[in-house]
Amino acid sequence: MDFRFTEAQESLRKELSDFCEEPRVQEILKELESEGDLYSAHSWELYKKMVERGWLGMQWPKEYGGQGLSYDETAIFNEATSYYRIPMMGYALTGIVGNSLAHFASEEQKKEYLPRMAAGEILFCVLYSEANVGSDLASLQTRAVEDEGDYVINGTKIFTSLGHISHYGFLAARTDPDAPKHKGISLFIVPMDAPGITINPMMSLGGERLNEIAFEDVRVPQKNLVGEKNKGWRLLNKALAVERSGVGFVSMARRGFEDILKYVREKKLSKDPVIRQKLARLATEIEVADALAWRVVSLQSKGLVPDSEAAMSKLYGTELIQRMANTGMELMGFSGLLKKDSKWAPSGGRMESAYRSSRFVTIAAGTSEIMKLIISFRGLGLIPVYMM
Ligand SMILES: Cc1cc2nc3c(=O)[nH]c(=O)nc-3n(C[C@H](O)[C@H](O)[C@H](O)COP(=O)(O)OP(=O)(O)OC[C@H]3O[C@@H](n4cnc5c(N)ncnc54)[C@H](O)[C@@H]3O)c2cc1C
Repeated sequence: MDFRFTEAQESLRKELSDFCEEPRVQEILKELESEGDLYSAHSWELYKKMVERGWLGMQWPKEYGGQGLSYDETAIFNEATSYYRIPMMGYALTGIVGNSLAHFASEEQKKEYLPRMAAGEILFCVLYSEANVGSDLASLQTRAVEDEGDYVINGTKIFTSLGHISHYGFLAARTDPDAPKHKGISLFIVPMDAPGITINPMMSLGGERLNEIAFEDVRVPQKNLVGEKNKGWRLLNKALAVERSGVGFVSMARRGFEDILKYVREKKLSKDPVIRQKLARLATEIEVADALAWRVVSLQSKGLVPDSEAAMSKLYGTELIQRMANTGMELMGFSGLLKKDSKWAPSGGRMESAYRSSRFVTIAAGTSEIMKLIISFRGLGLIPVYMM
């Protein structure tokens, strides 16, 4: 057992924190923050700066533009950037789609897309969710039908992060309507400027712009099918487990917790034993979340696919962010409700924004209830009644 980072990993951590503290990076964050909330914002300048340093797709093979590193380095990157509140949606989406392509795409597809993704030239959005289809993704209704060497896509996707600025979409569609619902799904790469695509904004409580994306007779060539036809379900699940390591969630909780501590010290609230106890509990929970998240990274780095372990980390880390934000709001009283443009807002209004944004983390990429289902079924072997 060795919990230490290697020397090279320590220098990557230092390089990352130095980068995040650079004046231009801080300036970009301020600009983005003045336009809205940070979580789903995207700055091409910042994205390119990080890409230039080789921080995108670090674990992909070198021949496809990656560095052939382990998941440890990607986790170190996620840990630092989430702590410094760098908007991560673009990286997260590139991670989900890029990892899927690196594992399941054809040689031709890997060569065509991965190097351009790693170079920050193209961005992918994830087109899974539909109205009435979120947790039960296998019930998706969007159809892809073969026609004269193409697939013709019809349907509507919702909640698509960064769909309005992405170059391509990674789309799940039903290719066999007569097969059992998990067995008739396929995955496609769709250029977002293809004729027949309409994009409309959906604004959420946390200030995130999501999108509703309609597909009307959108044609994609057969070569854009990823993996085997009708076998997309297994690919989808593997990619989602990779998404759930949870290291970034711990950093978000830790940074918010530091804001709370600073406030408590400034206002001399620590004389209250109830407040001290609340903070001691949160501090302990952050360390528990940290251990759960790094356990997932360690499994990934050994080439294993974390399943119930990733679900535990996602469940615990995201609910911890909410407990942190709830505690911050409770301690800051009414001033905690003030938005960042008020001079009276403590912590630059970040607690109010964190409180709103913290609602999405237990929903996106699998809700807390679904994480509990995965833990009880795949981790503990407890079979739900409807499967008996
Ligand atoms: C900020 C944000 C960004 C997102 N970005 C994307 C994106 O880029 N691409 C994309 O495809 N999707 C995206 N999503 C959608 C996300 O994946 C879905 O919101 C999520 O899968 C949950 O689906 P739902 O919202 O339809 O809720 P539902 O699945 O309808 O769930 C509603 C409630 O029922 C509970 N529930 C459902 N099934 C069960 C069950 N079997 N047992 C117990 N409880 C259950 C849920 O836990 C939840 O509390 C995003 C969502 C958010 C909030």
